[in-house]
Amino acid sequence: MTKKKIYDLIVIGTGPGGYVAAIRAAQLGLKVACVEKDARLGGVCLNVGCIPSKALLDSSEYFHLAKDHFADHGIKTGKLSLDLSTMMARKEQVVEELTDNVRKLLEGNNIRIFHGTARIVGEDRVEVAENTGSSGKENIRILGTGSIILATGSTPVQVPGLEFDGKWIITSTEALEFKEVPKHLGIVGGGYIGLELGAVWLRLGAKVTVVEMLPQIAATLDGQVSRTLDRILRKQGFEIRLNTMVSGAKISKNKVRMTLEADGKKEALSCDRLLVAVGRRPLTQNLGLEEIGVKIDSSTGHVLVDESYRTNIHTIYAIGDLIPGPMLAHKASAEGIAAAECIAGLPGEVNYDAIPAVVYTWPEVASVGLTEEQVKERNIPYCVGSYPFSGAGRARCMGEKDGFVKLIAHSKSDRILGVHIIGPRAADMIAECVLAVEFGASSEDIARTIHGHPTFAEALQEAAMAVQKCSIYAS
Ligand SMILES: Cc1cc2nc3c(=O)[nH]c(=O)nc-3n(C[C@H](O)[C@H](O)[C@H](O)COP(=O)(O)OP(=O)(O)OC[C@H]3O[C@@H](n4cnc5c(N)ncnc54)[C@H](O)[C@@H]3O)c2cc1C
Repeated sequence: MTKKKIYDLIVIGTGPGGYVAAIRAAQLGLKVACVEKDARLGGVCLNVGCIPSKALLDSSEYFHLAKDHFADHGIKTGKLSLDLSTMMARKEQVVEELTDNVRKLLEGNNIRIFHGTARIVGEDRVEVAENTGSSGKENIRILGTGSIILATGSTPVQVPGLEFDGKWIITSTEALEFKEVPKHLGIVGGGYIGLELGAVWLRLGAKVTVVEMLPQIAATLDGQVSRTLDRILRKQGFEIRLNTMVSGAKISKNKVRMTLEADGKKEALSCDRLLVAVGRRPLTQNLGLEEIGVKIDSSTGHVLVDESYRTNIHTIYAIGDLIPGPMLAHKASAEGIAAAECIAGLPGEVNYDAIPAVVYTWPEVASVGLTEEQVKERNIPYCVGSYPFSGAGRARCMGEKDGFVKLIAHSKSDRILGVHIIGPRAADMIAECVLAVEFGASSEDIARTIHGHPTFAEALQEAAMAVQKCSIYAS
């Protein structure tokens, strides 16, 4: 056991919650250390989540465009072929560069990085079982600290009867690393992770079947947007089974043989790989939380925190996927900043009404605020303005006519309650809408804001004008 060290803050986990919290705390003058059990920094987001999935989405979209759309623009590609190992190597390089950048950022802010598994052994003490490479020996350190931020993230939910085996029945991590394109990829769960990874492999030539228990895919989306996405994905070749459960799966003769259940009837379906993407649960095991008495929600497994991200133990804070709310990288980072500010005595906070959500299929889907269903449920009087991308000049130039912008505003105050976009570059367009919600803007504010021409964002302006019943281009 090595000598005790004193820090103002120890952050456990270096995902987008943890590393951002550490940097903000260091900026505010705190002496900070981070503990990370994996060899690379950056957490799920950089290593096996947001970044590698988007690298593959971008690469596979290029392949799809070259294969099916370049000819529309008069570009002849000849015989096209796929070099999957180069595509994977490129993804790996993007991840490597970004994770290395996290190290530089932490080091540049004088944050000490410990590589090892952390466990809380006292209100002001963290034990680190340091990785010592190939020798297999563990070096145990006890670090003394003023505060601790837990940012250990989440892990995929396992479904009984569909246990992960790393080869046939897999998590998103393995679905980012196939050595060859599966002939038929089955996906349990029609949430954003399943749809995005389904899109990657469909574009590269796989048959993709999504099995979803609920009556709609991406169930948290506005209903109209979810139905449109369903229709577009089917048109692209996705097979989607709604109101259907996968009740079991067996491996035989190099196939995953699933049992599907719908309307009380059973059906058999085979595929080559089965991705189970039904959600993620907070990673709280082996952290010493029970021993020290940190309160956890027994039904969801979330660590419970107050508005300053403090748990019931006054020195211990928690952020990101560990605590309630959408499991998103930017939400984790916002909480990391807020928690660090609270620890430093500043009024850090997060506006949970202004968190964007994006699905990186093509077309993309992005939203902020309330859906039409939620507005109705809450009996809020509202108006809707919509505008299709088929009416936007820029979208036409790009050959993108699918999708629309839907803006929901309070019918009396005109304050924007929600914006839902399905269409090209929706992920980037939503930033303006998040800003509008953050500033309490009205639909008239967006309608009267001059948008560049020709841009995708003109569709947002037209949707806002439609709320005002003064859309110029809607017929
Ligand atoms: C395939 C996929 C795609 C995704 N795409 C997006 C996206 O496009 N946009 C988006 O916003 N979100 C996306 N997400 C979700 C996003 O990755 C998470 O919400 C985010 O990473 C959560 O951040 P975090 O800091 O809470 O935890 P994590 O990123 O999970 O980081 C936790 C870290 O803690 C470490 N750790 C755990 N236990 C210990 C311990 N005892 N000691 C030391 N270290 C420990 C882990 O090794 C890990 O590095 C995606 C997720 C997946 C799986």
